[in-house]
Amino acid sequence: MARRTKIIATVGPACEDDATLRKMVRAGMDVARLSLAHGTLDEATRRLEAVRRTAAEEGRVVGVLVDLPGPKVRAGSFGEQPVTLAEGSTVELRIGNQVSTASVLEVDYEGLLTDVEVGDRLTIGDGRAVVEIVDAGPDHLSARVAHGGQLSGRPGLHIPADHLSLRAPTDDDLVTLERFLELDVDMVALSFVRSADDLLRLPVDPHPQGPLVVAKIETRAAIDDLPAIIEASGAVMVARGDLGSECSIEELPILQKEIIRQCITLGRPAITATQMLESMVKAPEPTRAEVSDVANAVWDGSSVLMLSGETAIGDDPVNVVATMARIAERADDEFDHRAWLTELAQMRLADTGDPDTAITDAMTHASARALTELGIGTVLCISGSGFTVRSMARFRPAARILGFSSDERTVRQLTLSWGTEPFHLSEDGDIERRVLAALNLARELGHVAVDELVAVLAGTDVRSRSTNVLRVERVAGPD
Ligand code: PEP
Repeated sequence: MARRTKIIATVGPACEDDATLRKMVRAGMDVARLSLAHGTLDEATRRLEAVRRTAAEEGRVVGVLVDLPGPKVRAGSFGEQPVTLAEGSTVELRIGNQVSTASVLEVDYEGLLTDVEVGDRLTIGDGRAVVEIVDAGPDHLSARVAHGGQLSGRPGLHIPADHLSLRAPTDDDLVTLERFLELDVDMVALSFVRSADDLLRLPVDPHPQGPLVVAKIETRAAIDDLPAIIEASGAVMVARGDLGSECSIEELPILQKEIIRQCITLGRPAITATQMLESMVKAPEPTRAEVSDVANAVWDGSSVLMLSGETAIGDDPVNVVATMARIAERADDEFDHRAWLTELAQMRLADTGDPDTAITDAMTHASARALTELGIGTVLCISGSGFTVRSMARFRPAARILGFSSDERTVRQLTLSWGTEPFHLSEDGDIERRVLAALNLARELGHVAVDELVAVLAGTDVRSRSTNVLRVERVAGPD
């Protein structure tokens, strides 16, 4: 069976040219992430265009996720060569965006002097160094390097989120969002979400009129408001970089499992992110621990695995995507689909106060059982918003999931849905016509064979997100 778990690759200077992007698409990139924490809006726009161009040339569906940095604080650039912060040394933190050195850290955050206090410990570069604030002057803070380390580029400086006076989305986020909404972007991720209200403050139409909103879970407050945040989002990212700085590091694997479990309960894809193959920024092979981390993230129930610096600034982005694809595919092979189904039977969609959700929950559950009991190898899900497909995918069927929608953007959003092969269906008529069109398309493309027994999930009302029809059909031959 082909790989089921999806891959997001962050596009940056190391892979923004068409030739590299094309190879990354071939190697298994399902979604391209544009992080606005680095680079300009124009650069990100050019990258979006390059991704769309290469995906079209390759005849592949590739989603685009724009990542709004929120109040992400970064140090000014350390330049081309890594700089070592020596343990026990003193550094000054100043507001600015110029070059940082081993003795002065420029910090691109106006609230630095008011939001950070003496005694605060700040993590730099997702755990590469830790400094402790020992004194506050009128225009700078003095810090002692509690744990030294090498820093390069523009590393993040983690200020505890509950100290930050700036909330997500920031004014810069809104400017970025406006540009990407004009470009019909597929997915929008919001960083440093602290409550469901932060997501609701994004000026986007409700999905599916608006893009799929991805909540990045990287603050303590978000953990405390998790069910409401998941319910208000279309997908969720376990943003382990900042989350690992917000909470005790030994809590991270437990939080990862819990966030993913709650996402599955609510039928939202979970993305596991950060340092998955970090050593491959430089090395041609991952560490053994990284390989296990990727495989375990698959078995935890991640729908998607994310690459950040590995592809954005790494030495060999194509090799990284190919390596992740191989690890994920092998882990997918070992996935215990039956045990998952048994466990999920106890974990129904929790937001079933809504009748459409309740119906889709019951229908996809019934489908998962029918697929297993009848030994059906393929399920066709015909969906307007993609909700049916995501609800079906949470059962992790061994059967192939073919996801159809007449909405081009929904099709691209299915790149986040575990195990789903996305297809555009031009037929938008009544249920009989849609089912026939999907079966014909699947047969013409060679994904199902004449006389094969398949399951089809669809809704009688094309405008409602409720799926109320499950059919088990033998595939007919061409007329
Ligand atoms: C993270 O903190 O893990 C994360 C994904 O966010 P970013 O890469 O934007 O810092």
